[in-house]
Amino acid sequence: MSAEPSSNYDVLIAGGGMVGASLACALAQLPLRIGVVEPVPLSSGAQPSFDLRTTALSRTSQRILDSLGLWSEVASRAACIRRIHVSEQGRFGTTVIDAEQQAVPALGYVLENRVLGAAMWGRLEATDNVDMLCPATIDTATVADATITASLGGETFAGAAQARLLVVADGAGSRLRAALGVPAQTRSYEQTAIVGTVKVAHPGDGVTAFERFTPQGPMAMLPAGDGRYVFVLTAGEDAVAATLALDDGAFRDLLQARFGFRLGRIGRVGQRGSYPLALTCAQQLKTTRAAIVGNAAHGLHPVAGQGYNLGLRDAATLAELLADNLRSGEPDPGSDTLLAEYAAWREQDQRNVVAFTDGLVRGFELPAQVLGSLRGLGLAAFDVLPGAKTILAQTTMGLGGRQTRLARGMPL
Ligand SMILES: Cc1cc2nc3c(=O)[nH]c(=O)nc-3n(C[C@H](O)[C@H](O)[C@H](O)COP(=O)(O)OP(=O)(O)OC[C@H]3O[C@@H](n4cnc5c(N)ncnc54)[C@H](O)[C@@H]3O)c2cc1C
Repeated sequence: MSAEPSSNYDVLIAGGGMVGASLACALAQLPLRIGVVEPVPLSSGAQPSFDLRTTALSRTSQRILDSLGLWSEVASRAACIRRIHVSEQGRFGTTVIDAEQQAVPALGYVLENRVLGAAMWGRLEATDNVDMLCPATIDTATVADATITASLGGETFAGAAQARLLVVADGAGSRLRAALGVPAQTRSYEQTAIVGTVKVAHPGDGVTAFERFTPQGPMAMLPAGDGRYVFVLTAGEDAVAATLALDDGAFRDLLQARFGFRLGRIGRVGQRGSYPLALTCAQQLKTTRAAIVGNAAHGLHPVAGQGYNLGLRDAATLAELLADNLRSGEPDPGSDTLLAEYAAWREQDQRNVVAFTDGLVRGFELPAQVLGSLRGLGLAAFDVLPGAKTILAQTTMGLGGRQTRLARGMPL
């Protein structure tokens, strides 16, 4: 397969990571010619999106993946979340979000990125109307008439590819977004997330996820099945180097001290990965013949596990609008009208989730003397105010805002 300079696509997707590949899987069902441009093969240990991380999928994400026929391929590898326990170190206030109280079978699922990646890439590589242009990059594109022309970098596919619509899905540090003239605001959290998997002595019901706020930053423990838990620990800039340098035993002691003994003694810590954290918000979700999705539109702190879930909703929305556009008399996947509808549909959900996630991090970052026991009261209040808890649960499950057909279990 090669992208000759004459290559013509209806939709060209820059980035075959979590969100770009999800979008391609949705669009593969439509009579469209799709190109996915990705620099790093799935088989590479250096693939930045499908790495050793594990993702907490919201209920909405599970339904979208199910509608795409992908869930059945990964379900046996997913761990279920039925409860989310939120606490703050050194304070009494806790809150529990419970699937039963929300009248749903599960609040979400935990799945290894690589498992989802294998299912999606397997699907795309076997689909006739999708070209996987990998390894290759897109760093610039120009618009002329009804076409956007992307310059492909890399030895295998060097040249140009034309499309009616270019989708920017190359992650939070997107160079393509900048090249297309779309500004983004980035604010560092001055924290780094350290992730990995551990066995615990008392896994409990194995379906409870823990969010814990500590003076050193937020952390999460997510059930991963077989008595294993995935940890996401944050370290402030002053402590990152020393934390990363800890040997397995010392790191386990640190994790235990931060999390406490709710799951008993924490066992051996395996491979760890680290991710500097920042909030990135693109100022627009579209420009001429281009749509911005996933982390390229919004890079979030992982404390509430919302980044991919939000990006998958971008993908489901764009796919729905493209399906509707095909049914119209004169389909044009990159029309101004379609792109304006995409931006209008996604803006509110994105704003809400950014505010929710950022508020969670910054609210708990405020010094104790400023908020005093109010922070403890905040969590306690969540527990006694069913309305507040429902909003928290709905946001966590990805149920805020207008739902796509895929999220409602319907075909595109
Ligand atoms: C520690 C951590 C834990 C997280 N946990 C969760 C969670 O539990 N739940 C959740 O919903 N989210 C979570 N997230 C967020 C989630 O990982 C991201 O939101 C998601 O990966 C975004 O996918 P993306 O495809 O938009 O971007 P990325 O994952 O950044 O993928 C971008 C892709 O574009 C490719 N690319 C780069 N440059 C170019 C170029 N020039 N041309 C073409 N392609 C290019 C890259 O190789 C990559 O494959 C977590 C994030 C972190 C850091």
